[in-house]
Amino acid sequence: MLEIQDSYDCVVMGGGPAGSTTAALVAESGASTLLVEREAMPRFHVGESLMPETYWVFERLGVLDKMKQSNFVKKVSVQFVGHQGKESQPFYFDQHDPRECSSTWQVERAEFDHMLFENAREKGADCVDATRVHDVIMDGACVTGVRLQEASGMVRDIAARVVVDATGQHALLANRFGIKVDNPELKKAAIWGYYKNARRDEGKNGGATVILQTNMKKSWFWFIPLQDGITSVGVVGDNEYLLKGRGSPEEIFHQELSICPAMLGRLEKSQLVSEFRITKEFSYATTKHAGDGWVLTGDAWGFIDPIYSSGVFFALRSGELAADAIVEGLQNNDTSGEQLGKWVTDFVFGTQWIRKLVDAYYTEEFSFGRFLKNHPQYVENLTDLLIGRIFYPGAGDIFKDMEPALARDRSGKSADSSSLKV
Ligand SMILES: Cc1cc2nc3c(=O)[nH]c(=O)nc-3n(C[C@H](O)[C@H](O)[C@H](O)COP(=O)(O)OP(=O)(O)OC[C@H]3O[C@@H](n4cnc5c(N)ncnc54)[C@H](O)[C@@H]3O)c2cc1C
Repeated sequence: MLEIQDSYDCVVMGGGPAGSTTAALVAESGASTLLVEREAMPRFHVGESLMPETYWVFERLGVLDKMKQSNFVKKVSVQFVGHQGKESQPFYFDQHDPRECSSTWQVERAEFDHMLFENAREKGADCVDATRVHDVIMDGACVTGVRLQEASGMVRDIAARVVVDATGQHALLANRFGIKVDNPELKKAAIWGYYKNARRDEGKNGGATVILQTNMKKSWFWFIPLQDGITSVGVVGDNEYLLKGRGSPEEIFHQELSICPAMLGRLEKSQLVSEFRITKEFSYATTKHAGDGWVLTGDAWGFIDPIYSSGVFFALRSGELAADAIVEGLQNNDTSGEQLGKWVTDFVFGTQWIRKLVDAYYTEEFSFGRFLKNHPQYVENLTDLLIGRIFYPGAGDIFKDMEPALARDRSGKSADSSSLKV
């Protein structure tokens, strides 16, 4: 049984992908590190579809071989189905870049998150689960430790030179400091369940994430093939539209299914093997990302929208970047907010491209199919964004033409408004 020390160089709150990444890399540098997870591991989590750019973080964490040897379904493409059932060509990630890093996996999160949690332990972090951080300890404006409640019920104060908030949507620090801002444009809700024997495409596209619009474009479904013949199927729509006065989650889910024939077809011979789960209002940002003795990572930093499956990649990458800033800060005895958050400006710059793609998807009049027909030169750029290649100069070139097209469509001046939105 692990004996938690009274003091650490770094305490990480939350044992999801962001927290486990930061804890592993900080511990690997030799700094004493505590990773605290509230739930007993392994624990359930939504969000199974990865972006290929997670590859580099897996490599850095030393878990690439474990991923390759796992039973996780290989994902080499994504596909979109429009509101009239028209299917886009699959976006094959290796189309322009055949390297191994252009493919990824659909992961069962309990297993995947547990693997990362254990990896942090292997790298030298003290890892505890079933232990909740109640609050942070402050000295003026500086965070100097955490107050936690162990599984036994005992409450303890632990001192830390750096505290990382990786508590996901709980966003412990952002809530405490009042720096969390919900995105009024994306007040969404999701209802999802798990099906056995749903129909997948034959061959290479069989592991694809498929995003399907319902017939009035008021909601969309995800279809994420997992191991053992299980498929994660969820519907996302405006909170008001999806949840207000429409019955139980199961009833709403089936009402939405009935207006998405392409999804109905895929589920024809399947069996539901779970309850339906529900979550809402999950898109938000934070107005400050680090301060003296603290830094935010992953969903605790902010969350955009699940449509492009970017959440876990952002968690892993921000976890990695925060770890580098923490290790440097600990070595130079500089745990100021400036040091701990030095990576954030570039991170926000890169992630804006996904934010803009989300905006485009939710612009009713806009059609990706039409846009790409008129601007075929951007297929490669768009595929790169779907892969998660967002942190290089030119990553956002597509928006030079997409933004004016969006503005025209929003003002109703589209040249061809009859085209399908795919
Ligand atoms: C409907 C929906 C669908 C999604 N689909 C996808 C997808 O297909 N692909 C994708 O990449 N992303 C998806 N996401 C997003 C993805 O799930 C998250 O971005 C990702 O889990 C973030 O990782 P994290 O480590 O920041 O947070 P989490 O994975 O949420 O981990 C945070 C951890 O902190 C723990 N914790 C919370 N409070 C405390 C506390 N006080 N003390 C100790 N521990 C605490 C929690 O128990 C949790 O284990 C989806 C999100 C939603 C809402």
